[in-house]
Amino acid sequence: MQGLTQEYVRHTMDGGLPSQNTIDSVIVVGAGLSGLAAAYELTKQGTRVTVLEASDRPGGRTWTYRQPFADGLHAEAGAMTVTEHCSYTMHYLREMGVDTAPSDLVDTDFSYYRNGVRIRPDKIDEHAEALGLHEDERHLTVADLFARYVTKFNENIGSEVSALDWTPTPKLLELDQISVRRILADRGASPAAISLIEPLFLEMRGGELESASAMAWARYESSPRSFSTADAQWYKVEGGTDLLARAMAEKIKDQILYRRPVVRITQSDREAQVTFLDRDRLQTLSADRVIVTAPFSSMRRLNLSMAGLSAAKHAAIRKLKYVSVLRIYLQMRKKFWPEQRLMLSTDTPICTVRDATPQQPGPRKILECWLTGWPAQAAASMSEDERVNFALREAESMLPGARENFELGASVAWDNEPYAGGAYVLPEVGHSELMEHTRSPEGRIHFAGEHTAFEPNGGSMNYALESAIRVLLELSSV
Ligand SMILES: Cc1cc2nc3c(=O)[nH]c(=O)nc-3n(C[C@H](O)[C@H](O)[C@H](O)COP(=O)(O)OP(=O)(O)OC[C@H]3O[C@@H](n4cnc5c(N)ncnc54)[C@H](O)[C@@H]3O)c2cc1C
Repeated sequence: MQGLTQEYVRHTMDGGLPSQNTIDSVIVVGAGLSGLAAAYELTKQGTRVTVLEASDRPGGRTWTYRQPFADGLHAEAGAMTVTEHCSYTMHYLREMGVDTAPSDLVDTDFSYYRNGVRIRPDKIDEHAEALGLHEDERHLTVADLFARYVTKFNENIGSEVSALDWTPTPKLLELDQISVRRILADRGASPAAISLIEPLFLEMRGGELESASAMAWARYESSPRSFSTADAQWYKVEGGTDLLARAMAEKIKDQILYRRPVVRITQSDREAQVTFLDRDRLQTLSADRVIVTAPFSSMRRLNLSMAGLSAAKHAAIRKLKYVSVLRIYLQMRKKFWPEQRLMLSTDTPICTVRDATPQQPGPRKILECWLTGWPAQAAASMSEDERVNFALREAESMLPGARENFELGASVAWDNEPYAGGAYVLPEVGHSELMEHTRSPEGRIHFAGEHTAFEPNGGSMNYALESAIRVLLELSSV
């Protein structure tokens, strides 16, 4: 069914999913959250489902690192927060019996590290000149800067930017032609002010302000999910985000085939066919419908020449940009910093440094360096040892004692993950032109996954799950 709206999908989810009985068999490509949700719901309805997953685990970009850490410590490689407004994520957490706990990102001891000095957000006036703030910004705190350049801007756009369901109104589409940096600069923000408020929004998501769409940014910043929204309750999955995917995968374990990378998709009037690697063989399965949840960054490597896709779909697959994120974990013998919940936004290439384990028991801690943009791309070319040494050297310069307490390190470079090829969608200027084409079904092939979200800034578990429900509605109306 073309033209399903976000509101319609949400109402259907609230009221109970319709069952479909016209489709006998479905192949799902990918066992990330969207693929798992689609397969789980279809299985409940009695549809024959096969999930082909390239890697050896479920969850995709929900991935909790447990090895090589000691004492049962763990750190998230992918998603780590969920808010009470993430209704689809909350729904599946409840349905799977997976618990939440307050997020580690709540009440952090957040501070800046600039020009070799630690600066608290309410004390930037003491360093205003050295930071390079404009004359009229020098008496302000970071909260004041945020209110001036972000909150007031959003208030001026009007209620459409914060509407419960996404509708791209003309005013919002105009914003899609402008970058976030330009909007902020046009409002008078100095480069120094931008660098101070950036960690409060897209920095945490790794967006590049130069190319990021102001439409997507404004939408995100005015949503109750945003980092800056005072009333948002932030949670994490207790014990690791991967527990949600594992619980879902357990329910449909007989349907999931791991280590089966899909390499080709074709379709005819009668069926769709999916070719995949099964060790040293190529195998082909047929089904009535295929749901592809692989990110477009991974789909670019599939042979789709006989898939019967429109030119607009091919263009969207080719053009969609992904954010570069690289996380380096340094296991420390003990907490050698005074803060309870250390979180440093730095002007060094390791971008953000935080205690990834403030609520985990035991003396050991994992210090995490969260790199985005060009530093993430540069470090992606390093070996694992080089990355760890790089992070340790930088960490030592701002947290003396890092080297002495260091035990072991690990890292994940999302750009290098073969079946991800990036962290999450970067909605660039002009993103609205691609959005509809990311999700539109093409004959027997349907598309789910965070990149097919209704929301312009859809890089979240919630919108990945929402996309699965949308596809179920597409199938129920066939
Ligand atoms: C660093 C990072 C931080 C994040 N933080 C948050 C957060 O705090 N909160 C939040 O809600 N979200 C967050 N997200 C986003 C969230 O993790 C994703 O939006 C969501 O998990 C995407 O689910 P998906 O099903 O769309 O895609 P994926 O999880 O990528 O699933 C796709 C699956 O397809 C498989 N696949 C790919 N290609 C093929 C192929 N050719 N053949 C077979 N299988 C294939 C992949 O292996 C994968 O398992 C974060 C993501 C990252 C990377």
